[in-house]
Amino acid sequence: MEKRELIYEGKAKKLYTTDDPDLLIQYFKDDATAFNAKKRGTIEDKGVINNRMSEIFFGLLEREGVRSHFVERLSDRDMLVKRLEIVPVETVVRNIVAGSLAKRLGLEEGGDLPRPIVEYYYKSDPLDDPLIIEDHIYAFGYATEAELAKIRSMVLEVNAVLRRFLDARGILLVDAKFEFGRHKGEILLGDEICPDTCRFWDKVTREKLDKDRFRRDLGNVEGAYHEMLTRVSQ
Ligand code: ADP
Ligand code: MG
Repeated sequence: MEKRELIYEGKAKKLYTTDDPDLLIQYFKDDATAFNAKKRGTIEDKGVINNRMSEIFFGLLEREGVRSHFVERLSDRDMLVKRLEIVPVETVVRNIVAGSLAKRLGLEEGGDLPRPIVEYYYKSDPLDDPLIIEDHIYAFGYATEAELAKIRSMVLEVNAVLRRFLDARGILLVDAKFEFGRHKGEILLGDEICPDTCRFWDKVTREKLDKDRFRRDLGNVEGAYHEMLTRVSQ
């Protein structure tokens, strides 16, 4: 399958059409952004690692019965996926307090949550992806009640599967961002699952092994991405 036309260039990936109208190729770049692109840089080989790691996670989820856009990894940086009509809502699931939850509610980072929290953000770069509630999603037609119910249950299932898998490899899934879309009347998990879109902490040392190393200038960003790939490849 070959790339035809570039249809979208985002912050981390490019999307290309293929000869099959139902399939796209996601090309994974090394570009890194944070704070809605106010901070920019590159992380060497990030695209290769995120492509490979997403393949591992989508494969795991498929075996556990979670439907996603993943078809196959074509090369180091190319992934073949089903074309989605993306729901413009980013879903975040949280297991441990971190990031914007800590900031917004004045909580200390690192506290265990008694149950996972699912949050919704409107996918809009100019608005910096604002936090929204379910009523906004229905009122503005981002998704129907049936679609959001499906998305929420998929988020909790994906969270449970990933937590179990990562726990066995000495990693805590602190939080994660997922995107969903419509394909032939079905809701599928889309985008990528990697250290750009999840917070991963070492279970013992609580060392950060994700994009927070880039966001907060903690150093050894590449090392953390490589370490995560090694862990999930076990
Ligand atoms: P962004 O800067 O918006 O995060 P990315 O660099 O992550 O963009 O590029 C991927 C874009 O493609 C995202 O906007 C995402 O919503 C979208 N996308 C992901 N998977 C699919 C798919 N299977 N079909 C169509 N669009 C997708
Ligand atoms: Mg993205």
